[in-house]
Amino acid sequence: MNKRNLLAHFHTKAVAIASVFALLLSPVSTLPTLAGWEENKVTPYELAEAELPENFYVLYRIVERIARANDLDQHPWRIVINSEYDINAYATDANVIGIFNGLLDQLVGDSSALACVVAHEMAHHLHRHVAITDAELTKGLEQITESAPAQQEEQMAQLQKRIGQLRRSQELEADASGYKYAVQAGFEPEGCLRGLDLLSRLPGSGYSSDTHPSASERIVAIQALIVKNPPEWLVTLGRQRLRSTEPLTYYWSADEQWL
Ligand SMILES: [Zn+2]
Repeated sequence: MNKRNLLAHFHTKAVAIASVFALLLSPVSTLPTLAGWEENKVTPYELAEAELPENFYVLYRIVERIARANDLDQHPWRIVINSEYDINAYATDANVIGIFNGLLDQLVGDSSALACVVAHEMAHHLHRHVAITDAELTKGLEQITESAPAQQEEQMAQLQKRIGQLRRSQELEADASGYKYAVQAGFEPEGCLRGLDLLSRLPGSGYSSDTHPSASERIVAIQALIVKNPPEWLVTLGRQRLRSTEPLTYYWSADEQWL
């Protein structure tokens, strides 16, 4: 099994969830322009609402709010919408949050559930999960390549087990941080539960193992977090940060494929 296959093997069905701000495009007679933004005549929100497709606008508002309420705007976040109908989301590269169309469709109208999925993916980045897993995998595969052929199969099995356990702990860690980020940004704690409820209906999600927490196990963990970290305190802290900072701007790619 080469590295690419192994990576594909470990590409888990990440959490997919959620859906939208009821932020409807309001009829505007004169659309805001970039020049207006630069002259401070329109806010980034007004420009985004006029310029971006609705899904991108919703995701911009969610990421912007989570980043500001949690002081997580040191590096630019990138949002990509994958047109395939997959109920899933993922974190990749340095700061890319990938969302599949199927997830947006299933969570449409539920901004808190979508925010929790987005926050979960942001947490993967902030905890450097992608880089840590990749380093473990690269190191393990190098060791296997250098060892005797007779031992390679056993070593590969051990590596798979190690990476699986790592991914399991990373999923739970991303859930816990994602919950905090989303709630501190003012989204409903129950959004995380609704997102996981959607996930729990997907094939394979009911299976809990050494390498993968089941959806129901993740729901129980979030319920415990709600008791342990009451939303009120997080909301107050987030509100203070939101009040003391300016809206974050965005860059809309020329090919209109990412934000
Ligand atoms: Zn995840």
